[in-house]
Amino acid sequence: MTRSISIFGATGSVGRSTIDLVAREPERWSVDVLTANRDVRGLAAEARRLGARIAVVADEAAYGDLKDALAGSGIETAAGAKALADAADVPSDIVMAAIVGAAGLPPTLRAVERGACVAFANKETLVCAGELVNARAKLSGAHLLPVDSEHNAIHQVFDFDNPERIARIILTASGGPFRSRSLAEMAAVTPSQAVAHPVWSMGAKISVDSATLMNKGLELIEAYHLFPVEERQLDVIVHPQSVVHSFVEYVDGSMLAQLGAPDMRIPIAYALSWPDRMATPCAKLDLAKVARLDFEAPDPERFPALRLARAALVSGGSSPTVLNAANEVAVAAFLDGRLGFLDIAVIVEQTMDAVGGYAVESLEDVLACDREARRVGEMHIKGRAH
Ligand code: NAD
Ligand code: MG
Repeated sequence: MTRSISIFGATGSVGRSTIDLVAREPERWSVDVLTANRDVRGLAAEARRLGARIAVVADEAAYGDLKDALAGSGIETAAGAKALADAADVPSDIVMAAIVGAAGLPPTLRAVERGACVAFANKETLVCAGELVNARAKLSGAHLLPVDSEHNAIHQVFDFDNPERIARIILTASGGPFRSRSLAEMAAVTPSQAVAHPVWSMGAKISVDSATLMNKGLELIEAYHLFPVEERQLDVIVHPQSVVHSFVEYVDGSMLAQLGAPDMRIPIAYALSWPDRMATPCAKLDLAKVARLDFEAPDPERFPALRLARAALVSGGSSPTVLNAANEVAVAAFLDGRLGFLDIAVIVEQTMDAVGGYAVESLEDVLACDREARRVGEMHIKGRAH
């Protein structure tokens, strides 16, 4: 039986890994929607190759190019924020949410509202609107399958029928490229050093987040919304090999973990085929070659982002929305050469101190808070320009 899939963020790192799996088994999949921000050539090529029904670019200025690129193909085209969200109403069996940042919130929420089975890579949506997403999922019966490797690992070993048996969730973090650098060295790192992740090959934004450990902070909040646990049950451990993708500790002291090669196609395949399993072309773990697994506590001095994310989770309300928005503008400024690496966390903290008390009960609430936090974050970035 074929299954239909829509891929939001089809031209990104997770999107391309998803397409890689789907394209290997064309008889098993029919592709409904593919979206991109503005990479028309990449989007059009994949839409033609996979025989997609609809191709959407978020950037309206790219619409003419998309129409030209798909002329004569019979593939429907659309552009703009509204078209992007509307495309999530297409009743695909599975929706891959792989847009980066809060930009993914409107279409992902729409997919959740129609009760879709959502493969969830877009962690920022859960960080900035976790309560809203869960409330809508409860109403619609939507199913959220985590793609983020840590949450995917937890999903594989978490006893959902007996959550009271779980003591802790321990997220593993690679530690990023600056795990052993001094603060003075970190002050001087460049965007190209920050995006060169030692283990995973990923989009620029998440690579910078991995280098600051904000990625793990966002993942704490993501885990809080995906699993029935309290904040105090969430921990982080640095594990440079990225072979153990996270642990669930039970009340009796047993720890269960999922291990695998650091290849996103493994968690993506799990989410696409759940509750079944599908074969992947991924390398199998050669434990003798891995030889050893190291673990160490994260350093709060050099990686303040973890503390900020935990503080946002504890405060709740609009705090995580502000944390996420401030981090997005600060990371973009760092990538543009407008901000130093260590200033990313400073901007996030200043913005969290300045913006608060927003309601986050509807999409409009979240977007208003997100806009205000971006405005304030940008103001602080200009004030700090180096
Ligand atoms: P990426 O930058 O490689 O790709 C992002 C995708 O989103 C692209 O298709 C891009 O066109 C689209 N996009 C960007 N801005 C947009 C906008 N304003 N409107 C609409 N579309 C937009 O990112 P990625 O590394 O694939 O990450 C995607 C998501 O998955 C992120 O939330 C990330 O945290 C999460 N994630 C990624 C990995 C990984 O290995 N790359 C692992 C775990 C989780
Ligand atoms: Mg992760």
